[in-house]
Amino acid sequence: MKNCLECGKPLMGRVDKKFCSDMCRNSYNNRLNSDSYNFVRNMNNQLRKNRRILEDLCPEDKSKTTKSMLIGKGFDFNLITSVRPTLKGSIYHFVYDYGYLELEYDFYLIVKDKRLEK
Ligand SMILES: [Zn+2]
Repeated sequence: MKNCLECGKPLMGRVDKKFCSDMCRNSYNNRLNSDSYNFVRNMNNQLRKNRRILEDLCPEDKSKTTKSMLIGKGFDFNLITSVRPTLKGSIYHFVYDYGYLELEYDFYLIVKDKRLEK
């Protein structure tokens, strides 16, 4: 038996039903289209895009690239998941398991955090 996507009540009747009532359908759809939901979704999409760009540019453990290469692929420097300073005072910015470090002359070092690999 399936449950209403909005309130969780068990659904009777047609197999393809998703909601117990029009009210539940409406509030579910309103929430899906709300600004805050879209904001979170867009942010998640960009984070995944950022990670994919780093992954593309860094097929091995480490790789060097340039700022213009990253920007050209649509990388958004404002969206990261964590910041990790090193003992030497450099700061790695991470997008999930990929990190980057700003080097001189617009070069960037990309690293893959293998501790997060399974
Ligand atoms: Zn319901």
